Amino acid sequence: NVRVRFCPSPTGNPHVGLVRTALFNWAFARHHGGTFVFRIEDTDAARDSEESYEQLLDSLKWLGFTWDEGPEVGGPHAPYRQSQRMDIYKDVAQKLQDGGYAYHCYCTTEELDARRDAARAAGRPSGYDGKCRDLTAEQKSAYEAEGRTSIVRFRMPDETITFTDLVRGELSFTPENVPDFGIVRANGAPLYTLVNPVDDALMEITHVLRGEDLLSSTPRQIALYKALTELGIAKATPSFGHLPYVMGEGNKKLSKRDPESSLNLYRERGFLPEGLLNYLSLLGWSFSKDQDIFSIEEMVAKFDIDGVNANPARFDLKKAEAINADHIRRMDPKAFADACGPWLRAPHANWAPEDFDAEAWARIAPHAQTRVTVLSDITANVDFLFLKEPVEDQASWDKAMKGEPAALLTTAREKLDAADWNDPESLKNAVLAAGEAHGLKLGKAQAPVRVAVTGRTVGLPLFESLEILGKERSLARIDAALA
Ligand code: GLU
Repeated sequence: NVRVRFCPSPTGNPHVGLVRTALFNWAFARHHGGTFVFRIEDTDAARDSEESYEQLLDSLKWLGFTWDEGPEVGGPHAPYRQSQRMDIYKDVAQKLQDGGYAYHCYCTTEELDARRDAARAAGRPSGYDGKCRDLTAEQKSAYEAEGRTSIVRFRMPDETITFTDLVRGELSFTPENVPDFGIVRANGAPLYTLVNPVDDALMEITHVLRGEDLLSSTPRQIALYKALTELGIAKATPSFGHLPYVMGEGNKKLSKRDPESSLNLYRERGFLPEGLLNYLSLLGWSFSKDQDIFSIEEMVAKFDIDGVNANPARFDLKKAEAINADHIRRMDPKAFADACGPWLRAPHANWAPEDFDAEAWARIAPHAQTRVTVLSDITANVDFLFLKEPVEDQASWDKAMKGEPAALLTTAREKLDAADWNDPESLKNAVLAAGEAHGLKLGKAQAPVRVAVTGRTVGLPLFESLEILGKERSLARIDAALA
């Protein structure tokens, strides 16, 4: 039975790398009919925040992930917030010491730094040198009498650790590269190095799928697992798979601090969860050679860890947008019209909520659905329907009103006045005829009409837009432009 976990620390805003990790774990669990455990790693009181915790939950819900065990839903291994499991870690840390797997280390930071520098200068491995590994009771008392504090350090076995990474194949770490490491701070606070594998063990996690940046902690966790198994705390060591790095601009690792990595940005711009997840799934995985647009159900049906690639993936915003646009086209028209609601009725939009005209929106929505890339694009495309006067965009105006627009607009107004306003084709013929009268092709002739009516040079199909706005309002705007 597959059991995976997604275990973020609640620091800062959720970012796309985190979402990809959640997605791969979730899809893996769903594909195998397994269990998706959501655990909050909030043992670092200085960095964790409640706000960030709330945001994590909200983000997972928005993305459509459901978790089988975790905050709000509970489960057999509750609680799922590490800050509420401190007694467990204390107890395990004690057992590790009693069993000889861990020891108190009294070295000060200054001493550690000095020895590390000396080792480096001599070309020796620069990790912890094991000085406190086998202190006698007298030595410990002497250190304590000096007023030294101690951390708890895990004793790494003097052997090479080899494991088969689910993504990268067989990997080996020699002892020089994996020195003894701290598991409990001097103030008694347990560290990630302890709490993460302890919870994985207690929660019976079978597969650890996480970012490549955590690869160096895997040999330590495997050693710790061995100790936990000998102590009867762990049942079996999980398999590990490390997801490839995501590269951003300039082929540098995409960092949490890069603005394009913020999940909130995609939400605010109106990415669909399905569009974003479709794109993120391609960071290190592929659906098939010739298909990169698919639904989340299709992804789950196909997703497995052996399809994950070890090569770094490149984050490509343009591609993310193109994929999202595709998902917008595939939406049920009613669902699309509803999904735009928050943008159309948002207080930041430049019309008052009472100016929103649901009927006009229902008529224009199908034209918008084939054109917008993200839902927030909708505002600029349809605001002409709801504003009393079109937006004043000087650049559009200057561009469209070059030459003799007044003469053209005057003719267009006359012909439009005589056209059939229930038929976009008739409106088009009117503008076409006006253009002919002034030696202009349709494209040039419709530009000033569009700017006069919508305020912009680009937008939805003009003649359908005119029909929906209606004769009276459209002609009044042309009059205003001519005045
Ligand atoms: N809390 C850790 C992090 O957010 C989890 C790492 C892991 O998956 O082991 O980086």
